[in-house]
Amino acid sequence: MGYVKGLICKECKREFEKEPIHVCEFCFGPLEINYDYEGIKKVVNKKSIEAGPPSMWRYQPLLPIDEDPKVGLHTGFTPLVRAKNLGKALGINNLYIKNDSVNHPTFSFKDRVVAVAVSKAIEFGFDTVSCASTGNLANSVAAHAAEAGLKSCIFIPDGLEAGKILGTLVYGSQLIAVKGSYDDVNRLCSEIAVNHKWAFVNINIRPYYGDGSKSYGYEIAEQLGWKTPDNVVVPVAGSSLITKIWKAFHEFEMLGLVDKVQSKIFAAQATGCCPVTTAIKNGTENIIPVKPNTIAKSIAIGNPADGYYGIKTANTSGGYGEDVSDEEVVESMKLLAETEGIFTETAGGVTVGVTKKLIEQGRIKSDETTVICITGNGLKTQEALDDCFEAPAVIEPKVNSFEEIFANSLTV
Ligand SMILES: *Cc1c(COP(=O)(O)O)cnc(C)c1O
Repeated sequence: MGYVKGLICKECKREFEKEPIHVCEFCFGPLEINYDYEGIKKVVNKKSIEAGPPSMWRYQPLLPIDEDPKVGLHTGFTPLVRAKNLGKALGINNLYIKNDSVNHPTFSFKDRVVAVAVSKAIEFGFDTVSCASTGNLANSVAAHAAEAGLKSCIFIPDGLEAGKILGTLVYGSQLIAVKGSYDDVNRLCSEIAVNHKWAFVNINIRPYYGDGSKSYGYEIAEQLGWKTPDNVVVPVAGSSLITKIWKAFHEFEMLGLVDKVQSKIFAAQATGCCPVTTAIKNGTENIIPVKPNTIAKSIAIGNPADGYYGIKTANTSGGYGEDVSDEEVVESMKLLAETEGIFTETAGGVTVGVTKKLIEQGRIKSDETTVICITGNGLKTQEALDDCFEAPAVIEPKVNSFEEIFANSLTV
């Protein structure tokens, strides 16, 4: 079962067996999945997909597992929302939101990558899963490990939001906060991986993990009526999601499910951590690592693993990269909530804020079909809005008491 032939080096194209490895031992390039596309072509078409479950597994032949998925059966197929109100506020006519803030089970797009990675870890026979995380990955690995009955040991930078910490601990994981940034955590995990034969979902399982993100791109195209949009604005951390949306669109083109892809892919980062958008603006493909300092902690990666490919995706697609300040992030979180009734986390504020900028710059035009990627839930990053609202009025349980307050609030 399954259509994975093995792994292949993205750079030198050497082929490897299906194993929990992620780096080419010859040229140190990243490994990716080598699919049997001829086989896939014979079984995948619009009808076969539409007859599938309302989850990411409707694309199962295009995902890198050999057996049926073991966890995350309800992940994905989240709403693609026609965002008329936000579009009006931003001055464009054809705006959509791909809303993974309601993804299952832990309310971020990371459930897609983890559903694949943990299913694959079980196929490989691991008994413990692990990861280096900026928060959402921690939540998702912990939840899927619980579902699978596996042990989990999870590493995060210290100083993460309360919702991300509790949202990991509740599943019974061992959670370790490392003094330092995500980049310190990631380096430490690579060292720990030498001694502990665990499935580190975003290290040794990374080639499989990454392709879980393709489902986000497939869904955008299918939900637009088997069309790829003119523009996609993507929040960027390690640059996995942005490259996989691009890959997903091109696989659909190759399978004849959509017309020639002409989508522009835009990278969105916070000004306090924007190595990818800085490189795009400077016209270089080389990342200069930075030390993150932003409230958008879930995308605060100073030295992104796939940064080079993220830059290339934006450039070859004809897109661009922009960043926004923390103040703009907060404003944009509020704007999305007030216009569309969607409460996103700080990363979503980044994406909305960057979209606004790109429209102002004329890079996104009013009649083009534009998709904003909303990848996480606002209830997990409540601290960001701490100073934004007054506490609710407290009244006696009496009509008079309410009418008094109501009358006063009208005069404000
Ligand atoms: C992890 C994450 C991203 C981006 O991740 P990549 O590493 O670039 O794939 C975007 N948004 C949220 C909310 C995330 O948690």
